[in-house]
Amino acid sequence: MKKQIVIATNNANKLKEFKSLFENTPYEVLSLGDINFNGDIKEDEETFQDNAVIKATTIHKFTNLPVIADDSGLIINALDGFPGVNSARFMEGAPYSLKNAAIIKMLEGHSDKSAKFVAAIALVGLEPFPQVFIGEVKGMITSEPKGEDGFGYDPIFFYPHKQKTFAELTIKEKEEISHRGKATALLFEYLKEHHF
Ligand code: IMP
Repeated sequence: MKKQIVIATNNANKLKEFKSLFENTPYEVLSLGDINFNGDIKEDEETFQDNAVIKATTIHKFTNLPVIADDSGLIINALDGFPGVNSARFMEGAPYSLKNAAIIKMLEGHSDKSAKFVAAIALVGLEPFPQVFIGEVKGMITSEPKGEDGFGYDPIFFYPHKQKTFAELTIKEKEEISHRGKATALLFEYLKEHHF
């Protein structure tokens, strides 16, 4: 019988990604819906790591099964790390076309356009303490949005090695180099070595 692991997300895309990753492994992936969790998860810590751990711990306390949770965002150096852990909440409710335009405007007059995406993935319940895996990718904020694919801040995040914004990459190309792709790869290496 397969072991069960919960992905602490309501995001259908993230769930699909994790389900495909866990195919042919000893684990069956469950969603928050599968475990009947409808509560709110507090996400007001100051780091991606702490937010990921708090999410995973909240769900682990609810279900007692092992849980994976992630938190991610954009860090802009000239803006002291803004929007950072508030990436999803910045101008909440506004479309990303407006959020991206606002960020470009905030960077006008700054010569340093460097930025990075960061993702933290926490694994809680397989060991006495949470394990956290972090992935980062460096880039620059563009002076205008470019590309149709991706989501969020992808159209204004220019990746110099490919000379494209993240919104101009295919999903597969993005997965290979992205913050989330890197953190997920680390999680998988760890799980394979210790818990398969
Ligand atoms: P969360 O990790 O689901 O809390 O989302 C964090 C927020 O960071 C997202 O809503 C986006 O605004 C931003 N973000 C995180 N990863 C990416 C990415 O790969 N592309 C574009 N925006 C991202």
